[in-house]
Amino acid sequence: MSEPILGIDLGTTNSAVGIVDSGFPILLANEDGRRITPSAVWIGKSGEVEVGSKALRRRAVEPERVVTSIKRLMGRRASEVGGNFPLTVSTGDDGLPLVLGRSPEEISAEILKEMKRIAEWRMEMPIRKAVITVPAYFHDAQRAATKRAGELAGLEVVRILNEPTAAALAYGLDKLSDHSRVAVYDLGGGTFDLTILEMQDGVFQVLATHGDTRLGGDDLDALLVRRIEERHSLGETSGAARIRLMEEAERAKRTLSEADETKILLPFFDGDRSIEERLSRAELETIAAPWIGRTLRHCRQALADADLKPADLDAVVLVGGSTRIPAVRREVAALFEREPDVSQHPDEAIALGAAIQSGVMSGALRKMVLLDVTPLSLGIETFGGLMNVLIPRNTTIPCKAGEMFTNAADGQTSMRVRVLQGEREMARDNWELGNFEVAFEPGPKGRARVGVQFKIDADGILEVLARDTATNNDTIVKLGNAAVNVDDEDVGRMVGESVEHAFDDMSERIFTEARLKAEELLPAVDAALSQGLALDDERSEIESAVADVKTALASGSAHPLKVAVQRLDHATEALAARLVEKAMDDALERKLSGD
Ligand code: ADP
Ligand code: MG
Repeated sequence: MSEPILGIDLGTTNSAVGIVDSGFPILLANEDGRRITPSAVWIGKSGEVEVGSKALRRRAVEPERVVTSIKRLMGRRASEVGGNFPLTVSTGDDGLPLVLGRSPEEISAEILKEMKRIAEWRMEMPIRKAVITVPAYFHDAQRAATKRAGELAGLEVVRILNEPTAAALAYGLDKLSDHSRVAVYDLGGGTFDLTILEMQDGVFQVLATHGDTRLGGDDLDALLVRRIEERHSLGETSGAARIRLMEEAERAKRTLSEADETKILLPFFDGDRSIEERLSRAELETIAAPWIGRTLRHCRQALADADLKPADLDAVVLVGGSTRIPAVRREVAALFEREPDVSQHPDEAIALGAAIQSGVMSGALRKMVLLDVTPLSLGIETFGGLMNVLIPRNTTIPCKAGEMFTNAADGQTSMRVRVLQGEREMARDNWELGNFEVAFEPGPKGRARVGVQFKIDADGILEVLARDTATNNDTIVKLGNAAVNVDDEDVGRMVGESVEHAFDDMSERIFTEARLKAEELLPAVDAALSQGLALDDERSEIESAVADVKTALASGSAHPLKVAVQRLDHATEALAARLVEKAMDDALERKLSGD
């Protein structure tokens, strides 16, 4: 079995890990039974570390030792951060930020270690590789920092994948046809982005991405907190009280995604004063309206950047936990003039897509890429075991191509058509898609003619037709869409091998072609010489050329054989002409003698 690869969504607020198990992408739940783990890291005074909900629970006691949203600092310099971080950020020797004496990469590595640990515990095996997602707008330094965080966690990062691409994979949008366009609306805990992707040759390209790295569910929680503070004249809270308020606001907000009403309850919040208040979904929506409006502005901007109208999109998908809010879904549907696809859990889609990508890379998931071009060349085997290409690689479908073939031996009554796919010169190195026998009217060698035609329709179905030109009898075989539906990696491997073996392959083809020619020439020359048709001055040159051809054939090397065959061909030119003449004379004589 191939080595397993994890798919990890390293989120600002939450992280998740998935894998392809028994052919299916799944997310792996932590000890709490949750598939989502808060991206929170507690760092104790003597350097102990706790990650996830265990870290969050410590926030009530030691808020200054719990790091959240570390993703914001990844790949940034301390000077870029300023006061925009909940904890104190100091500057390391290299100008990079430090939180509690650790670099953002080291802190992210703790989250990744936890994801690795959860996966290894669930899968009961060690796992060393991972695909990690990043926002589409992450620049090189941020991507490099993410990769280093993975390495610090003991993972080989086999790919850094864009989050919107991962989301599109989770929604199965890679099955869309070429040039399809997808908008991914991702509203998480602390960030928002809208990315427009276009499918190009089986991969998603980013057409536009717009967003705000300071806009997410946390902001809505803060708006709710403000409202509670005002209603109960609490003033501006801070520290543990503020954390309690934020947690309760978030809980209420989530409840209102399902229920019409909830109760905000904070017993003994302010001394022995308890806070108790009803909150309706309608009230939350009023508070949320301007917040949602800000995301919509970015959507319009992204559309304008890509020069697209909502109708130009083939799909709109929602990801990020905050898109569970009904008002968000409504507003997005209105702006894009369509119902968004919400068939996946929005806060799990990115990790699921990362798992799909990792499964493709490990081979656990055989991803079929449907392209509108032939991923590999198609042809049939001809004389000498050579590959004869009828439709070259990267031909746009639908397409059609044909060629005429002749019989290799006298009196032959049928030939086997072996349909091949691949880039190698020799038939045996390519893949056989199928084979069948065609019967034809027997004739002398090279006389019977069979036309072979390949036709690929718009669905990628390959149909092979073989016609005996003497009788016009057709043999038609349909070979399914194996001609177009080829595993991505297999294509890569085939093309790679063809490059790797290019020289060997080419010399083998040259040798085979020269050998076929030699096999035709040698018996004919023999016959002519024995009939005494050669002139004396020709004879020695022909005999020496024949000897050369035989030596080159025995040596098996392509170039000398090609040269020797050319020499023999040249030396026998005059002889061949006389042979033809003699054959005509003989025929004439036979006719005259009345036979
Ligand atoms: P990130 O991508 O930022 O790591 P997520 O995609 O997990 O985070 O989104 C987290 C945000 O989603 C939080 O602000 C959380 O409050 C919000 N959220 C999660 N579930 C719901 C829900 N049912 N209703 C409203 N908001 C939710
Ligand atoms: Mg996210």
